[in-house]
Amino acid sequence: MKKKVLTTCPYCGSGCQLYLNVEDGKIVSATPADGRTNQETLCLKGHYGWDYLNDPQILTKRLTKPQIRKNGKLEDVEWDEAISYTAQRLSEIKTKYGSDSIIGTGCARGSGNEANYVMQKFMRAVIGTNNVDHCARVCHAPSVSGLAYSLGSGAMSLSIPEIEDAKLLLIFGYNPAESHPIVARRIIKAKQKGAKIIVVDPRITESARIADLHLQIKGGSNLALVQAMANVIILEGLVDHPFIEDHTSGYEEYKKQIEKYPPEYAQSICHIPADTIRQAARQYAKADSAAILWGMGVTQFGQAVDVVKGLASLALLTGNFGGPSMGVGPVRGQNNVQGGCDMGALPNCYPGYQDVTDDIIREKFEKAWGVRLSKKNGIPLTQVPQYVLHEKDEKKKIRAYYIFGEDPGQSDPDLNDMRKALDALEFVVVQDIYMNKTGLKADVILPATAWGEHEGVCTCADRGFQRIRKAVEPKGDLKPDWEIISLVSTAMGYPMSYKNTKEIWDEMRSLSPLFFGATYEKIEKMGGVLWPCKDESMADKGTMYLHKDGVFAHLDGKGKFFATEWRAPGEIESKEYPFSLSTVREVGHYSVRTMTGNCRTLSNLEDEPGWIQMSLFDCEKLKVKEGDLIRVSSKRGTTITRVKPTERVKAGATYMTYQWWVGACNDLTVPYLDPVSNTPESKYCAIKLEKIDDQ
Ligand code: SF4
Repeated sequence: MKKKVLTTCPYCGSGCQLYLNVEDGKIVSATPADGRTNQETLCLKGHYGWDYLNDPQILTKRLTKPQIRKNGKLEDVEWDEAISYTAQRLSEIKTKYGSDSIIGTGCARGSGNEANYVMQKFMRAVIGTNNVDHCARVCHAPSVSGLAYSLGSGAMSLSIPEIEDAKLLLIFGYNPAESHPIVARRIIKAKQKGAKIIVVDPRITESARIADLHLQIKGGSNLALVQAMANVIILEGLVDHPFIEDHTSGYEEYKKQIEKYPPEYAQSICHIPADTIRQAARQYAKADSAAILWGMGVTQFGQAVDVVKGLASLALLTGNFGGPSMGVGPVRGQNNVQGGCDMGALPNCYPGYQDVTDDIIREKFEKAWGVRLSKKNGIPLTQVPQYVLHEKDEKKKIRAYYIFGEDPGQSDPDLNDMRKALDALEFVVVQDIYMNKTGLKADVILPATAWGEHEGVCTCADRGFQRIRKAVEPKGDLKPDWEIISLVSTAMGYPMSYKNTKEIWDEMRSLSPLFFGATYEKIEKMGGVLWPCKDESMADKGTMYLHKDGVFAHLDGKGKFFATEWRAPGEIESKEYPFSLSTVREVGHYSVRTMTGNCRTLSNLEDEPGWIQMSLFDCEKLKVKEGDLIRVSSKRGTTITRVKPTERVKAGATYMTYQWWVGACNDLTVPYLDPVSNTPESKYCAIKLEKIDDQ
């Protein structure tokens, strides 16, 4: 029997719609659908990224049965035993050490918003803590914090389709050609329609190659460049004074700080000629409608939140808000990382960005959920090693970790410390679809259905709610994530008896004014709904762009300026460690490769475990060539990988991915955190390189 199932791609935040073509209960291909963002196109992950559902066992075998560690070994058990054991251990730890000794994660991948809603409710209402977070913490948390400060709302202000009608795109620390190929297509369309493209990136990326102006910045100097651009705009009278007067606050103070950043000063920090900075600033300020798009080249630095506020200030300075095809775009990476935030899988807010420390909001959730809730913010997941290994106060230590759809044992910085933390925890639950590095340390494995095997809603990068749909029956003794968490909750004495994802969605909507109008029916009918959508009637079709007419989401309706002193990365090059290392991605693979690593076509495209991109100059100096093995070390660890010489990077700077099980870079990266968002500085640490002679 053949069928075609319309769903949303499970990989990046572009939110492409596709059909899964099913024959006799097996997916045989994916074809593009006419989605709002993708218009009948897909990238290679969309075309070939479904194969893991057929369990080809390339990387590892699909999890098909719950497991409990007995006498040091994970053994298959029935669901009843796995659920009651998990509930019993979590209850014991809660009783012995208190609610805040347990932390849990949401999941930014294909699990859907409903599962994230249930997880944060479980952590808050049943465990009794706000210690719930997800991998937004290691990527775009600075965008959420920074934009919430500047504009009152932490998401993309414009929608993906609007990108192609901007007159200028400032693409900052972001390589859409690799991270969001379908967004990159909109950028190419914008260029074809006459838009100017400015790219700020330390590498000559594919995106930089189509730019009218490429600012090949030195890593770690973003704030100096942003403030120098503002300096030029102010000094040359290119500011939008009426907009500043009517719609912003803090301009005079901002101006004073910006005066300290003339382009000549920034040149010495950023290694970009002052005149090029002037050119970029003039072009940006003079464009009729300009949008700034950024990625992890902005957010994975120790001063990321300041840079996000700085970029928002550039847009305020030039009046680039209020209409279509302008504003700011933190383009979220994973397909549902926006949704994880929307659903409150964050330590400081309930679903719909409602503050956990606000008494009125907390009372609303207490009434709805029938429990007393914690008044204090939870711990961000990047602080787990600190709270497990280094916290001196026994009462504050983390003892148990419920990890749902994440793999901190591969994706987080300074893995030596993370591995020690996983070993030191009294209880680790891993809920996932494949065995992964973290799962190897688990006390309980709860096997879940994957994207393609369950229903739900996810949110793409531009705030668009879209449906994910079940195409095939799960192969194994599996349950949907929301059902597993509900069973653990019920076993702990807090019954959750949801029958389907719609029931969960409706409960979530009833508590979240920003999303209340986005019913399943509306999402089905319209193909997608961008929040805010506050009214259930079909008249409220959601919101294409935020801050209409320059009205921001703060109580006074104004956008806030911000500037501060630039500071260098937390760990810089030294005599012993003379190179910088930045993490990057491989285009055919997604995150820790749990899914794409188990797709035959994608694996065939790039299956070499790990590499390090180095300049031709450095290769010559170290006498290494393409494919040679090289030892890479930082203060925290060592790994061996293969040399990938390239003319696209500057001498002294190197680039690796964390995506492979061997030859990857998170044994080396530094756990230095942005002080506001707690996001690690994955884009900068110091390393040394040693040629391996006996090859
Ligand atoms: Fe999937 Fe992103 Fe590729 Fe679209 S651009 S097909 S959402 S990976």
